[in-house]
Amino acid sequence: MNETLSIFNSIVEDLLIDEVNNPVAEFVASDELFDRLDLDLNDDPISTSELKTVLRELVFKTPRTATNAFFNQLFGGRNEKAVLGDLLAVILNNSMYTYKAAGPQVGVEKVVLREICNMIGWGERSNGTFASGGSMTNFMGMIMARNAKNSSTRYRGVHEKMTVYTSIDSHYSIPKNASFCGIGRDAVRYVDVDDKGKMDVAHLERTIKEDIESGCTPMMVNATAGTTVLGSFDDIARISRVCDQYDLWLHVDGAYCGSVLFSKKYKHLIDGLHKVDSFSFNAHKMIGAPLTCSLLLVKDETHLYDSFSNDANYLYQTDHDDFNLGKTSLQCGRRNDALKFWTLWKSVGTKGLADIVDKQFELADIARDYVTNHPDYKLYSFEDSISVCFNYKNIPARDICTLLYENSYLLVGYGTFKENEFIRLVTINDQNEDADILNFFNIIESFVESNKELELKAS
Ligand SMILES: *Cc1c(COP(=O)(O)O)cnc(C)c1O
Repeated sequence: MNETLSIFNSIVEDLLIDEVNNPVAEFVASDELFDRLDLDLNDDPISTSELKTVLRELVFKTPRTATNAFFNQLFGGRNEKAVLGDLLAVILNNSMYTYKAAGPQVGVEKVVLREICNMIGWGERSNGTFASGGSMTNFMGMIMARNAKNSSTRYRGVHEKMTVYTSIDSHYSIPKNASFCGIGRDAVRYVDVDDKGKMDVAHLERTIKEDIESGCTPMMVNATAGTTVLGSFDDIARISRVCDQYDLWLHVDGAYCGSVLFSKKYKHLIDGLHKVDSFSFNAHKMIGAPLTCSLLLVKDETHLYDSFSNDANYLYQTDHDDFNLGKTSLQCGRRNDALKFWTLWKSVGTKGLADIVDKQFELADIARDYVTNHPDYKLYSFEDSISVCFNYKNIPARDICTLLYENSYLLVGYGTFKENEFIRLVTINDQNEDADILNFFNIIESFVESNKELELKAS
């Protein structure tokens, strides 16, 4: 193992140095990939030094998500304390279903979940779990909602026309999950959004009423804390009043920005969270833990047990359910995603987590100011969001983004809202500084300057 660890260290040390000088990995076109890299598998073994060479080459050609040139997704950066925790989780290789198999790691997960439930303002009956991603925590929320509406569906399946409500700008996992849980994609009602991308609550209520009149059984509203494109926050408090009135489960998909919970300054964006039934967020997005670190919190843990526990004599042989976390999880074997979050939290404290969140909003302010103060830019996003959406010189966003990528300048994506397409800069990496954000714009400007044909495409 020591030799293996030294290979790991040596590759990583080289990578860290190279990342500073070359924040974007060399572009490898997908149709050239297998010619450019030795990915083939052979019958015969290779030597350790050959393996090291192959791995190093592979690592160096892989997109660099931790650098100051990666703005393409809703994650980025490299939070070293969280990485430390995750590396230890790999070496320990526990599975989180029982105390017997995971020991104190169960305590690590429980403490993180308890602390977050307390921050939400929930009582002793609240609980939670980790799943393999935000799509999965949303799925668990929908399953609990379905079973809460009609507990017999667990045994007899769905026999009524259940409907769920989510905004047109919500995540695509909602319709997927509707198909998984037996109500079908057509049962998803897409509610309009206002000018700033927030769910139109009046339209929500009208849609629910119409469905009831036509014999449907509304069962859940999904509100989003940080929509995937604009980073908008639905009005949870208002939506919860509608859910109370029609007896609907309220789930909040906070995969992207639910972590504002940790910030004194920004948690007002999720006011009313204590009223909801379930809440999910990805600590691998705003908190900067390595992928994946997805939490689901539930106001009343009975729903977790009702929907996810199963007896299994071959598995649950010792200890109380409270310490056998498999009784509340979607998976059976489950990796230890709590340790990276706990290691970071232990290291920086709750105040440090708040700083991580606040920094991202500060960087977004810098970016928005830049865009609004430079006449060649047009802004499409709003305050209180870490997605800064803009166009430059009216050049089609997809052309700029694709060329920046193919020329290994920057990784950034584009999005649309109400018929406008734009570049979406996400200031999710709290290790960036103001200068990195200004540099982002400088790179775009000098790139366009040296590729004059781009301006000819301007609309
Ligand atoms: C990222 C995201 C998800 C999905 O999370 P995964 O971990 O990628 O499955 C769900 N909802 C929103 C709003 C997201 O931004």
